[in-house]
Amino acid sequence: MLQMNDLSKQYDLLKEDINENINNVLKHGKFIMGPEVSELENKLKTYVGVKHVVTCASGTDALLMSLRAWGIGKGDAVFTTPFTFVATSEVIATTGATPVFVDIDKTTFNIDVSKLEEAINKVIKEGKLSPKLILPVDLFGLLADYEHIETIAQKYNLKILEDAAQSFGSSFLKRKSCSFGDAAATSFFPAKPLGCYGDGGAIFTNDTNMYNLLKSIRVHGKGQDKYDNVRIGMNSRLDTLQAAILLAKLKVFDSEILSKNDIANLYSEKLNNVVEIQTIPENYVSSFAQYSILAKDATERNLIQENLKKANIASAIYYSTPLHLQGAFKYLNYNLSDFKVSEDISNRIISLPMHPYLSEDEITLITDVIKNSIS
Ligand SMILES: *Cc1c(COP(=O)(O)O)cnc(C)c1O
Repeated sequence: MLQMNDLSKQYDLLKEDINENINNVLKHGKFIMGPEVSELENKLKTYVGVKHVVTCASGTDALLMSLRAWGIGKGDAVFTTPFTFVATSEVIATTGATPVFVDIDKTTFNIDVSKLEEAINKVIKEGKLSPKLILPVDLFGLLADYEHIETIAQKYNLKILEDAAQSFGSSFLKRKSCSFGDAAATSFFPAKPLGCYGDGGAIFTNDTNMYNLLKSIRVHGKGQDKYDNVRIGMNSRLDTLQAAILLAKLKVFDSEILSKNDIANLYSEKLNNVVEIQTIPENYVSSFAQYSILAKDATERNLIQENLKKANIASAIYYSTPLHLQGAFKYLNYNLSDFKVSEDISNRIISLPMHPYLSEDEITLITDVIKNSIS
């Protein structure tokens, strides 16, 4: 089976380093907040080029801890996209704040900046919620349009939280993912660009005050220590073992991003004029959490997926239901056709196998199945 992300192939190549790092942790026995955790935080900080990093137990927690640090809650509006993994919107609801969806751009699949200001003005005019935060998602590894988002955030005095769960390692010009906005949250879930062997996440910020709040929130709202509790916090630490695994993977991470970009280019050459492909605009480098194409319609998409399956090739649909149509968000009272681009793309999108160790023959095999499904 040709998998979406072949982690066992990666393990075969990095086995020695990973095993040695794991064994070191087993020997020193500092399983919670061991030395590998701060070593990883220092390396991540240098890699991204921000002042502070706080690792935590998942990407979802990284988002939630940021909202908690800012005191986002009941009566606040948070602007985000409905075409994302549920966690983005779930954490907003968890704090008691209200997710306000803005449709996506039909070529990048990221939040449509031309519709953002309209959504903010609508909330202001209604006068029920106070606009607080923009939460853009870097979908499939492609950074959102932060230049424009930053201008709008300044105009309306809003904070920005980058949902970088899928985009660690990507960049715009010289700026790396996780360096945008007031803070950024990423995930180390195994299938993400930099994945560990379980759950993990991290928050990045240049704001020292926020950094101190996050360190407290991570350990039960600690003050002087864990038994001095000055605020309501969480238990959300990254396991030392996961940090040890990430340290080994970080060494080859840049070369993996380069390989994935070569693979994406090969895919795109072969699928040019066959299907639509997520657009990576000029000066952007994606970390390709997913490589995604659009079929003509749902019927063609299903045929492609069936034929791939018959050829023993994995594929996936991210996301078949946009969040405004999910049962969990029914209480927000959105309707079908509220976000037409998200709805259209959710009917036509399909993601193909994407990892640094795909061969050219494998890509040819995959693209041939797609071409044959269409003609
Ligand atoms: C995976 C993901 C998350 C959540 O990360 P976890 O580590 O699984 O909790 C949040 N947002 C987006 C866009 C994601 O893809």
